[in-house]
Formats: sequence, C-alpha cells, structure tokens
Amino acid sequence: MKAVIAEINLKALVHNALAIRAMVPDSKIVAVVKANAYGHGLFAVAETLDPYVDALAVARIDEALSLRERGIQKPIILLEGFFEPADLPLIEKHHLLTAVHDMEQVEWIEKSDVKGPLQCWMKIDIGMHRLGASPEDVATLKARLEACPKVAKPLGLISHLSVADTPSEFNYNREQIDYFLEVAKDFTGDLCLANSAGILFWPKSHTAWVRPGIILYGVSPFEDRVGADFELEPVMTLKSSLIAIRRLKKGAKVGYGAAWTAPEDTVIGVVATGYGDGYPRMAPNGTPVWVKGRIVPSVGHVCMDMMFVDLGLNATEKVGDEVILWGKEVPVEKVAALCGTIPYELLCRVMPRVDTRYVKDGA
Ligand SMILES: *Cc1c(COP(=O)(O)O)cnc(C)c1O
Repeated sequence: MKAVIAEINLKALVHNALAIRAMVPDSKIVAVVKANAYGHGLFAVAETLDPYVDALAVARIDEALSLRERGIQKPIILLEGFFEPADLPLIEKHHLLTAVHDMEQVEWIEKSDVKGPLQCWMKIDIGMHRLGASPEDVATLKARLEACPKVAKPLGLISHLSVADTPSEFNYNREQIDYFLEVAKDFTGDLCLANSAGILFWPKSHTAWVRPGIILYGVSPFEDRVGADFELEPVMTLKSSLIAIRRLKKGAKVGYGAAWTAPEDTVIGVVATGYGDGYPRMAPNGTPVWVKGRIVPSVGHVCMDMMFVDLGLNATEKVGDEVILWGKEVPVEKVAALCGTIPYELLCRVMPRVDTRYVKDGA
C-alpha cells in the first residue's frame, strides 16, 4: 500500500483542453506546463496535450530542454525569456521561442554568435511591474529588435494580466487589456495575452494566442469558484488512507501543540498524509476531507507524515479505508481558500515522495 498517491487523470486533462478550445475557438493555445506541469508531471502532461494544443510554455530553459530531450517537437515558449548569453545557442539549437523583456537581452542577442533568426515575442509591462518593457521604453526596444537581423520578423508581442482573477480590480484589468491592444496596433506578429482568468472572463483579452495554465488542470483561478463551475474536471486527485482509528474521550487533546480538543467522546482517524507530502500544515480544524464516501473535518495540526480527521462517535470506518485530500470530491480551491493560499501553490508543491499514477480512462 502506498501512503499517498497523486492520481493524474489524463482523460480529464484532454477534456479540459477541448473545453478551452471551445471557449476560444479563434485563438491558438499555448499550454503552460511550468513547475512540473503545476505538479502533475511534465512529460505525461506535455505528451497527452501535444495533439490538442498549438504550443507549450515553460518558465525556465531547463524545462524546455528536458521536453526536447523527451522528443517533444511542439513550439516551446520561454515565458521569462533567457537569463544569460549562454542560453542563446541552446535556444537556437532547440528551436525555442523566447520572450525578450529588456534591452540587456537585445544586446546579448546582438553580440552573440548565433545566426538566428530567433523567434522572439517582445514582452511589455502592462501593469504588473514584474517583467516587460515600461511604456516609455516600448518604442526603443521594438526598434532595436526590429533592426536586429538575428531576430525573426514579424516580431510577436506578449504580456501578462495581473488582476484578471481579481473582481475588485475590474477597472485596472480593463486598462491593462486596452493598453496592450493599443501597443499591439504597431505589431504585425503574433499577439499573446490571456491567462486562464482572461480566457474565462475577459473576451477582449483573447488575442491570436492564449496561455491557459490552471484551467488545463481543471482548477478555477477565481477564489470563489471551482473548476466544475466552468465545466472543467480536476486532473489531480490526492489520495491516502486511514492507518489508525482511535476512540477518544471528551477533552482528549489531539496532535502537536494540542491544537484540537475533543468536545465530546468521538472517534478519530489517522491519515497517512502530512506536510512532508505537500498537504498544507496551515489547514485549519474543519478542512474537508473525504473518507470512504463522506466528508469529515480535519482536526489538530497536520504533522509531517500524518494528519487527523474527526469521524464521530458512530464511525464505521476501518484501517485501510480510502481518503481523498483533494480532487472532484474535495475541490483543491476550497482547501487552498481555507489555508489562505491559492490552489496553484498546493498543486505545484506536491512532494517527490508522493507516488504519481496516471490513469487514461478516468476509471
Ligand atoms: C503561469 C503563467 C501563465 C498561466 O497562468 P494561469 O493563471 O495558470 O492560466 C500565463 N502566462 C505567464 C507569463 C505565466 O507566468
């Protein structure tokens, strides 16, 4: 018996890719597979998505190189561009498409030995203030890139929305989209703007290319919604089992720090999952856990390898019974919200000791 299994439903992944196609029928899809495909396994996700998307995107060149080594031929986009001149020959050799977000990178291209032309998307800052040319630098960066014979023409344009998932910043998001479209008027190359929240909620952000990440994995980017609200299916189910059942008297203190005290006589279950597997320690008492067909509350602090659930006095569960920490039965969005974080973080920090299993038929 494996203590913890991350079951990856590849049929749900394909379902989500097709659902996204239907949402943006006029756009090409860049599947974002950075950070080990949001914890779902880079190779299995990339190979499964290959026939259903137009390109893949990663954050780091190592991720792109391992996809090439694995035989993936699709265009691969480096969302953050390259970090040093030594990356350029690799970008050329492996036909990677790179974002270029500042002048120093253009100088590296100009001075390098690569012949090119390299496929580049110029990255502009439309309000996040992370990467990308500031408004006052857009014209200069564009002119320099266009004058560089090592850069393929026409030049593409890429940017990232910072508040597409934040309803209280509705106007700020609209300004970001409008500004992007304004700058885009001077570009004849590919345009790429929308992330998952843009795809779901902001039709004006649907340019020729869109970049879904979290919705491919069946998860909502909005705090108050779950993937099922958008007909998406969660791809990951984090499963474990009960390894002990304990009868407790009223007043019994459970776990490190005695963070929960039984208010009545009860039965608790010990689950073989902890923060050493990636389940969040900040999960409060009452976080929903599925145990053999019903939802019960977590109690006490999550330990490194175990956690507790309150099964109630009339519990009939037995050692070995199945437990689901998140998946269709318990939305990861709900667990994340209770922990004060986002589902992205919970998914991509599932630990290497968790056994990842792929299922193709969803059964
Ligand atoms: C991670 C990332 C995405 C995908 O975002 P989602 O919210 O998961 O859709 C898109 N673009 C960039 C630049 C990113 O870093």
